[in-house]
Amino acid sequence: MKILDYMGSQGHEQLVVCADPAVGLRAIIAIHDTTLGPACGGTRIWPYSAEEDAVRDALRLSRAMTYKAAAADLPLGGGKAVIIADSHTEKTEALLRAYGSFVDTMGGRYLTTTDVGTTGRDLEYIRQETAHVVGLPTTAGGSGDTSVMTGLGIYMGMKACANEVWGSDSLTGKKVALQGFGKVAIYTAHHLMKEDAQVVVTDIYEGALDRARGLGLKVVAPEQIYDVDCDIFAPCALGGVLNGKTIPRLKCRVVAGGANNQLLAEDDGEELSRRGILYAPDYIINAGGIINVAMEIGTAYHSDRAREKTERIYETMGRVIRISTEEEVPTARAADRLAEERLDSVRAIKRKYRSP
Ligand code: NAD
Repeated sequence: MKILDYMGSQGHEQLVVCADPAVGLRAIIAIHDTTLGPACGGTRIWPYSAEEDAVRDALRLSRAMTYKAAAADLPLGGGKAVIIADSHTEKTEALLRAYGSFVDTMGGRYLTTTDVGTTGRDLEYIRQETAHVVGLPTTAGGSGDTSVMTGLGIYMGMKACANEVWGSDSLTGKKVALQGFGKVAIYTAHHLMKEDAQVVVTDIYEGALDRARGLGLKVVAPEQIYDVDCDIFAPCALGGVLNGKTIPRLKCRVVAGGANNQLLAEDDGEELSRRGILYAPDYIINAGGIINVAMEIGTAYHSDRAREKTERIYETMGRVIRISTEEEVPTARAADRLAEERLDSVRAIKRKYRSP
């Protein structure tokens, strides 16, 4: 991978590589764009088999954060960090605090929060070394677990899609297949269950499946989830799951989930649209978490404000569908246009008022 060429072509500003062998820290922080504000995005802890995979993930995810914040109308840029480690066995206070020290060296250009493999408790350790942390537990003075609003936003996005496909935004009786049953999927499932949707779940972690069974949900093996006959397929685990191998297996009318970077390639969005599947662009409907943390920056956090802004994802998803229909482009492209329009207009204002 030619990192600098890739960064240049995708508009990235900065890549920071952090190492502390004494505590097993191997981390990468990517900053994509700070036009709208400081780069904000979670820290992912994942046992990548190759460093290059970790770099690619950080770069791709940070770009998605720029688009997510732009489309959600937030004063934030896009960033993301990954720590190469197994969150179940290798996460220690020392590793997290060493990582926090690196975040601190960035002087506020990067604000971190939770993602796959990190919890609010981990943020408390990171917070020991840097103030540039958002989404701390409420007991530690923060806005709490981002997954709560992320789950709400995904649910609102599903409803906007249902309205387009079935002419009603009710999800009662709709069958929803959740891939991954971690933090985000659980909160999404709670909303779905309240509306009497049928929820089918998979996960690669037995503890997550036990939780699903405990809630009375149907469980299938990880590989079977693509073949489930359902109305909505909701990727809520990792990215790249919508691709040439999986899309032909899908039996749904809507794909709407929380995972970041679900499409392996841009063409995959076109393929979904060709097959008559409405795709809710991931960064449009999983913006609840970033909206939640944005509500604590520079002001006292109020959950009602966060909830109200998260519920607007319903309208944003509606705008994306409208752009897609009017401009005859797949929804993923329509979402990019929405975000790029805002980024371009703010860049123009900055140029205008900063010039001597
Ligand atoms: P999590 O770690 O709590 O849950 C992820 C779950 O997916 C885990 O239970 C894991 O075992 C499972 N999983 C991993 N690979 C799988 C596979 N191949 N098949 C089935 N299950 C698999 O993480 P989370 O916070 O719930 O995040 C889930 C996704 O949502 C991630 O892509 C994350 O980037 C994205 N996201 C999270 C937030 C947030 O607020 N937490 C916000 C926006 C986007």
